[in-house]
Amino acid sequence: MIIGIVAFQGACREHETLLLKRGWSVRRILKGEDLEGTKGLIFPGGESTVMKRFFEEEGFQKAFRRWRDKGHPFWGICAGAVLLSQKVDGRINPCGVIDVSLERNAYGRHRESDSRKIAFNDGTTVEGIFIRAPRITETGASVHIEARSEGDPVVLRDGKAWLTTWHPELRDGAGLYEKVFLQSHGDS
Ligand code: GLN
Repeated sequence: MIIGIVAFQGACREHETLLLKRGWSVRRILKGEDLEGTKGLIFPGGESTVMKRFFEEEGFQKAFRRWRDKGHPFWGICAGAVLLSQKVDGRINPCGVIDVSLERNAYGRHRESDSRKIAFNDGTTVEGIFIRAPRITETGASVHIEARSEGDPVVLRDGKAWLTTWHPELRDGAGLYEKVFLQSHGDS
């Protein structure tokens, strides 16, 4: 199984290590054609204002839409979650694909980077690393909140689309790679 990592900018290396460790193949994605043959996709953390320029490019949007229509799972992490959300800082994000509103850099300077407890619905907890994280402020009816931290939703799922506002690649153990790329393969 080949998993793509959108490599316009941002944190690819840790994901690559963790995907390879699971016996999966990895491909860095820089343009629409690179999506061909991949069975899942990560939009990593980084700087969404930089990534946005590439993400909004028409060729990439078209290819991504076609790829998505095949029903593959994809996962936006921190800046990646910003790219995929339909409303960012009160404005419509024209390329957003998940019915979520969020605020960028919402936790203030004193919390630019932080380790916090994350509680999943099934009762498991993990420590998660937040780096200039966005805060989810609203979720549409089709969006499930899978985990919270201090009351805020921090893991969301809409069908096969996942968002996390923190960085699971920096501390493996939440089982999210399996949840996103194995469990969400079968259902709709
Ligand atoms: N603050 C960044 C943004 O909004 C996200 C930071 C991150 O991905 N760790 O683009």
